[in-house]
Amino acid sequence: MTDFARTRALFHLPEDVVYLDGNSLGPLPLAARERVGRLMEKEWGELLIRGWTEAGWMESPARIGDRVGRLIGAGPGRVVMGDTLSIKVYQALAAALDLVPERRVVLSDHGNFPSDLHMAKGLIDSLGRGHELRLVAPEAVEAALDESVAVLMLTEVDYRTGRLHDMARLTRAAHAAGALTIWDLAHSAGALPIHLDAAGADFAVGCTYKFLNGGPGAPAFIYVAPRHVERVRPTLSGWLGHEAPFDFEPGYRPAPGITRMRVGTPPILGLAALDAALDVWEGISLEAVRARSVALSERFIAEVESRCPELELASPRSPAERGSQVSFRYADSYSFMSALIERGVIGDFRPPDVMRFGIAPLYLDAGDLVIAAGVMEEVLSERKWERPRGRRPEAAGG
Ligand SMILES: *Cc1c(COP(=O)(O)O)cnc(C)c1O
Repeated sequence: MTDFARTRALFHLPEDVVYLDGNSLGPLPLAARERVGRLMEKEWGELLIRGWTEAGWMESPARIGDRVGRLIGAGPGRVVMGDTLSIKVYQALAAALDLVPERRVVLSDHGNFPSDLHMAKGLIDSLGRGHELRLVAPEAVEAALDESVAVLMLTEVDYRTGRLHDMARLTRAAHAAGALTIWDLAHSAGALPIHLDAAGADFAVGCTYKFLNGGPGAPAFIYVAPRHVERVRPTLSGWLGHEAPFDFEPGYRPAPGITRMRVGTPPILGLAALDAALDVWEGISLEAVRARSVALSERFIAEVESRCPELELASPRSPAERGSQVSFRYADSYSFMSALIERGVIGDFRPPDVMRFGIAPLYLDAGDLVIAAGVMEEVLSERKWERPRGRRPEAAGG
């Protein structure tokens, strides 16, 4: 049994705040503060350059990649950390297109996060080989898989609505059509059970500052299936993806395995915070996290719909089709969310009219959601945003 009162106590949560934006930036794990402090004093402070070897800095992208791997159903040696998610999207797509040279279409859906689509477009333009980024409605993806599709590139959970794709089914369908898959797990890692190896996924990428609580700008991850990795030709061929970086050879030779997806010097401060944030997940069952996320989301939807009938559910009603967030539409969503944030209920706004509420079971309970729904009812019935003041609600983070 996962003890969620215990996990909640592992976070710093400000007084008088109900934090429903952990799908954009997870809160501070207490252990991260301690770990980064220790790194500053003992490692950077005292070891200086020796930290790369004596404190294990150089190996940490692979070691921490294996820790993330356990949360996304990936065996050891299949995940490595570094850079930002946008960079990892680019790397994965460049590698995948290279493996299917005879096809020209990158298939994705309209709900995908803009950065993923921008990176794909930028890569396609610089390749100059006539590739096409084809976008269809999320529910039309499977039918759009034909013999022109090289790569199916999807984000499993839609950042705006929380709609959840069926990874196993779509991966099978893509393979049957002769295409490779790239799964973006930005809103799935730490939110629900993921089985990359079992699903036969080809590539996956994700960030660690959302449900994994690694901190602002925490390093991203990339997964490559072992059947592909030795054939992957890294486009971002930085020295730390080289087979022998410290031989300082002018010619590039990719390192064996997932190491070739490293680029440059790893972000050690961010990795240390993430490493501590991952301690929170030790002994946690993602099935239990998912069950609690569904129960909390159902409760929140029921509370909000009974108290605020003017709000329209923007997320799928069936829990099986939803990630770990609940979104509502309202004409004045932006102002409404500003008024909520002023009153300590922190969610966020995404254009044109969506309010998002992240449901993170490690530190939220039903009481928080009842408080939040109560504040929403009060703000709505008194139309409090008509006297606006205070912070703007569009925080960074997808
Ligand atoms: C959050 C998010 C990003 C953000 O990418 P960064 O490079 O980390 O800024 C990209 N894609 C998706 C799907 C996201 O949800």
